[in-house]
Amino acid sequence: MTLRVTVWNEGRHEKTHDKVRQVYPEGLHQPIVSFLRDQGMQAHAATLDEPEHGLTETVLAETDVLIWWGHMAHDDVQDAIVDRVQRRVLEGMGLIVLHSGHFSKIFKRLMGTSCNLKWREANERERIWVVSPGHPIAEGLGEYFEIPHEEMYGEFFDVPAPDELVFVSWFQGGEVFRSGCCYTRGRGKIFYFRPGHETHPTYYQPEVLRVIVNAVRWAAPSAGPSVTFGQRPQPLEKLD
Ligand code: ZN
Repeated sequence: MTLRVTVWNEGRHEKTHDKVRQVYPEGLHQPIVSFLRDQGMQAHAATLDEPEHGLTETVLAETDVLIWWGHMAHDDVQDAIVDRVQRRVLEGMGLIVLHSGHFSKIFKRLMGTSCNLKWREANERERIWVVSPGHPIAEGLGEYFEIPHEEMYGEFFDVPAPDELVFVSWFQGGEVFRSGCCYTRGRGKIFYFRPGHETHPTYYQPEVLRVIVNAVRWAAPSAGPSVTFGQRPQPLEKLD
């Protein structure tokens, strides 16, 4: 089955910040979309300024995994679209939230906490350690990999304890961060992956792309039983 992936990028920094446009001339989503296509997936981009943010009922119905990058315009995402994405996650659509997406409406909604953290923009080195070496999202990686220049995110990261923790980051300045967190909500699988500040070429780095494609495969819907809720007047066994 060919996995259908929608890569949602807010797409505002590219319009307003020269530095971001230099790093990602075709948008921050473009290297991700290209790589997923190279891996045999059906990937397309959607952005905030499209009608319904590019996330119509039809698009979401035909999306197996949604990738989310946002930063400066979280509040511009309509609540009705957040409701729609949340419903699809509960139905089984996978969701991968990248970097500053930790503060997106959809991630905060699904986590139920502030999702706040420490941060610093100082171009420091990030060393990402694999702490679940048997996990499918770590497939093909070494014990760790490094990103030469990134924004720092530090603990405490105010999220629920992840069901599975795949990566822990160390930063040159001394902070650490849970940078690869797995959750399930309803039938849906959610993966939060930390790297990806908009002024660094992080989404061209092979290890980072490898994690994203592994996460797409992990988060894809599985064909479990359909579920019903509500009153159940007929018991399976005879009640005396
Ligand atoms: Zn950032």
